[in-house]
Order: sequence, then C-alpha cells, then structure tokens
Amino acid sequence: MSSPFSDFIAAVRGVLRPPIEPALADAGREGELVVGRARVSLTLLFMLGPIATLVRHPEESPAWIALGIASVFVAAGLGTVQLAHKKHPPRWLGVATSLLDVTLVTILHALIFSAGFAPMALSSRVTFSLYIFVIVASGLRYDGRLSVFTGLLAIAQWLGVITWARVTGLAGAAASDGRFYGDATLFGQLEEMVVLLVATAFALILVERAGVLRLSSIRDGLTGLLNRAYFEERLSLEIERMSRHRRPLALALLDIDRFKPVNDSFGHPAGDTVLREIAARIRSHVRRTDLVARVGGDEFAIVLPETSIEDAAAKVEEIRQALQAQTIDVGGQPVLTTCSAGVASAGLDGLTAEVLFAVADARLFEAKREGRDRVVWSSQMGSAATVPPPPLHS
Ligand code: GH3
Ligand code: MG
Repeated sequence: MSSPFSDFIAAVRGVLRPPIEPALADAGREGELVVGRARVSLTLLFMLGPIATLVRHPEESPAWIALGIASVFVAAGLGTVQLAHKKHPPRWLGVATSLLDVTLVTILHALIFSAGFAPMALSSRVTFSLYIFVIVASGLRYDGRLSVFTGLLAIAQWLGVITWARVTGLAGAAASDGRFYGDATLFGQLEEMVVLLVATAFALILVERAGVLRLSSIRDGLTGLLNRAYFEERLSLEIERMSRHRRPLALALLDIDRFKPVNDSFGHPAGDTVLREIAARIRSHVRRTDLVARVGGDEFAIVLPETSIEDAAAKVEEIRQALQAQTIDVGGQPVLTTCSAGVASAGLDGLTAEVLFAVADARLFEAKREGRDRVVWSSQMGSAATVPPPPLHS
C-alpha cells in the first residue's frame, strides 16, 4: 500500500541508484560542464579580493597564499572543463570536481582562521553559504550518489576545520563566545550541520525532479517505451560505440499484424490496451541494456547491443511466439495478435542509423509480403533467414 512515507522511501531509493538511463547521464555531463564554467568564473571573481588587498598592502602574506591557491584552482577548474567537454569524460570526474569544490571552501575557511579572523570564519554567512552552493550544484550532475557524497564531505570537512582551529588554538576567543559565533565544537555547529543536510536533501529533490522530467521527455506516453526521436539519437550513439569496440549490434523492427481491425472491432481505447500489453511483453523478453521504442502507431523497435544477427533473430522469434501464444484480454474479450519483424545488423548491413533502419524496414516489409507472423533477418529470400510461422498460424 502506498503511503507518503513509503513514497518517500521509494523516491530516496530511486535517486540513490546510478543513472542507468543514458539520457540522464548525458544531462549530467552537461551539468558538469555548467558547474565547471561556474567554478572557474567564481574562483576568478574570488581572486579580486586578494588582488585588491595586495595592491594596497603587498606585504600581506595570507593574500598571496589565497591568490596562489585560487590560481591552482583556476588551473584545475580549466582542466575539469576540458575533461567535461570530452565525448566520454572519465567516470571519476564528478567525484573529483565535488572534492575540489568542497576542499576549496574548506581551505578558504582555514585561511580565514589562520589570518586571525576566527569569529568571521565561524559566523560568516557568505563563506559558509559556498558549501550550500557546492552541494546544490552537485544536483546538476543528476546522480543522487554524488550529491550525498558532496553533502557528507562538506559536513566532514567543516567539522574537520573547526576541530583543527580549536586544537591549534586558532579558534581562540570565538570558541568561548558561543552566543554570537557558535562554539568551535561539534555541538556548537549543530545548526550548520542541519543546514548542510537540508542542502543535500534539496540537491536530491533536484535530481529526482529533473529525472522525472527528463524521462518523460524521452518516453512514449502510451506505452512508457522510448519515443522515436530519442531512440534514433541513441541508435546512432550505440552504433558508434559498438563499432569502436568492434562489437556486433542488431536492430529489429516489429509491426503488429492487422492491428487496424482490432481498433475497428473493439474501439481505440481497447487498441491502446493491446499496444500497452505488447510493449510490456517485448520489454519482459529483452535485456535491461537493450533499447525498446515505439517508433510508429503499431510499430516497435529494439536495439540489441553486443548481439549477433542470429541471436537477435532468435530473440525476436521468441517475442513473436510469445505474442501469438497468449491472447490479450480486452474488456473480457480475448484478442489474438501476431507480429512481423525485420532484423538488421550493424557492420553486416550498414554503419549508420538511417541505413540500418532502412534495411530492417525492408525486411519487415518482406515479412508482411510473405504472409505476416514471421521474422526476416536476411535479404536472401527463401533461405533459413526467414523464420516461418508454425503451421497452425500460416
Ligand atoms: P499490417 O499487418 O499491414 O501491419 O496491418 P495493420 O492493420 O496493422 O496496418 P498498419 O500497421 O499500417 O496500421 C497501424 C494501425 O495502428 C493504424 C491505426 O488505426 C492504429 N494506430 C496507430 N496509432 C495508434 C494508437 O496510438 N492507438 C491505437 N489504438 N491505434 C493506433
Ligand atoms: Mg501493423
């Protein structure tokens, strides 16, 4: 039974899973780039402070240290922007940049303590809020695990710098005046911990909401499968990826046989129910990593990465048999559906999404022409390439 609490637990679980949907991973890479540019711009802005100080007082060593550290961060920031620009950025990039950002804010606080401004380090809303920016910005990578990492890292580093300031005596008088500045103790920093936890929760909400929106933009509203536009985009990417690794990839197009009469006899809503059920059956027969889309009214497409054309044809044949083995119940009436399919293979039949689609479509047409309810996976007619329907259904 669904309750607000179980909904909440389900949302937290969902958001902590890795973003397996590549659309989200793509959006996360764009987010990394946005955060990367913001990091460089903000660090350059931050450098204005020490520069202004040094113009008036060139002997101020903390300003030189701040300028030096900021320069290192600008260089590191430019490096991360370069990496985020790559087509396949390293997996560790998000963790590294979050670590960089949180550490920069912590070093800033350590510098303020070292410069003898303990009350400011403990109570400045400006510098402390940088942690909040960093945590919320982690949400733009659309990976909840990264936001939790960033939030916990900020808490750990903040407690670390506070403890360091107390142990070294740098917290000084501020430590004893908890009324205004908050003690440099774990207990005295409780409100700050709560603020950082709230920022982490906010980042997770951002990840969850963006995920819902992003997924709805790539899905077919009726069946929940991928929509055509996104499928074509992914097909090109998958072909490129598989040819780079010299791995096989197959594309199958399936069209429901004589679906129009189902609509005409039982009505459009009943037709919709049939389409939804067929989509669910197709999905249940393929791997999680296979891409399944509804690419037309009653036409479905499947991309099977790492699959030879023979294995793909066998898989589609399994789906064809599963469809005609069981009727679909529409308002108490059993409806028997069959499908025809054409299968093509990247490498054997072409190396672009357009060519592969055209070949699979031509084979689908062939399957229809030969009497429907069959799978065609080679252009050589009359060979074992055509999987014929069982006798009862011919
Ligand atoms: P064939 O064996 O040649 O494929 O015959 P068919 O009747 O299935 O013909 P075709 O594939 O050309 O027709 C597809 C039909 O699917 C036409 C339309 O009535 C129906 N259709 C398209 N989109 C939807 C939809 O969203 N819901 C429903 N219920 N029907 C749809
Ligand atoms: Mg049809």
